[in-house]
Amino acid sequence: MQKLLEEIATTAATNPDKGRVATYIPELAGTDPNQFGIAAAMADGRVFSAGDADVPFSIQSVSKVFALALALGRVGDAMWTRVGREPSGLSFDSVLLLERENGIPRNPFINAGALVTTDTYLAGSSPREALGELLRFIRAAADDDGIHINEKVARSELATAHRNYSLAHYLASFGNMQASIDKVLGTYCHQCGVEMTCRQLAMAGRFLVDGDKMPALVSAERRRRINALMMTCGHYDGSGDFAFRVGMPGKSGVGGGILVVSPGRASIAVWSPGLNPYGNSKLGTEAMEAFARKTGWSVFGVP
Ligand code: GLN
Repeated sequence: MQKLLEEIATTAATNPDKGRVATYIPELAGTDPNQFGIAAAMADGRVFSAGDADVPFSIQSVSKVFALALALGRVGDAMWTRVGREPSGLSFDSVLLLERENGIPRNPFINAGALVTTDTYLAGSSPREALGELLRFIRAAADDDGIHINEKVARSELATAHRNYSLAHYLASFGNMQASIDKVLGTYCHQCGVEMTCRQLAMAGRFLVDGDKMPALVSAERRRRINALMMTCGHYDGSGDFAFRVGMPGKSGVGGGILVVSPGRASIAVWSPGLNPYGNSKLGTEAMEAFARKTGWSVFGVP
């Protein structure tokens, strides 16, 4: 595994096409695209890493996985009255389907759905309390109390969050927002501003890997369902492509991180800030494609 990760990191470092760093969040626009890290937390407890695996990055939409787990812990299956479980086939921040589908977002991983998830775990508490609970969940999953929110990134996103405000207002117009829009947006942008290294993210993803040494933060059924949603919706309109190329549940973020789960085997985090046209890490996707080919860990076959 160590050798494989190092090979993958070397291939990434020599690839001249790094993709394009997201610029719509001003604080992230200056990120150096020449960075690549990968880490794998194995079911037996070992952790391997290569490249820039100890450099913190903005996890952005990867946070939607932890947010969903937290929201489901709060309300259980009632969650599914407010958000669907189908891929949208549209970009992560699209407003298109909300009008046609009565303000019920297609899934919890597009922004509209994630705003509902945030509203759900925020219900009845202050943003500070809700974010404290989210951080507690992530820290417990990763077994790492050092994980924090980058306040500058959160504020930078909040100051330019016109699209997400629009989505929240649209949801509110259909009665699918409980807390005030300002509170939901503030909480959401801070949730997206959680910072982690590949090593920390791989550790945090272990609650989705079945195994004796893995943290048991959700039930087996919930774990399977979250993995199913990651497979079908975790990469927005690039979800089919990711399943085709990698064949493992994954959740991407516009900061260039991807969390990938190999059920029963490992939690893998990869990061490179340059994105492909779907808004998913370009080198990260290519790295996971090589990783899946070498390990035979696609869930669609027996290695
Ligand atoms: N915070 C980002 C946003 O809402 C998350 C998007 C992403 O990572 N794809 O725009």
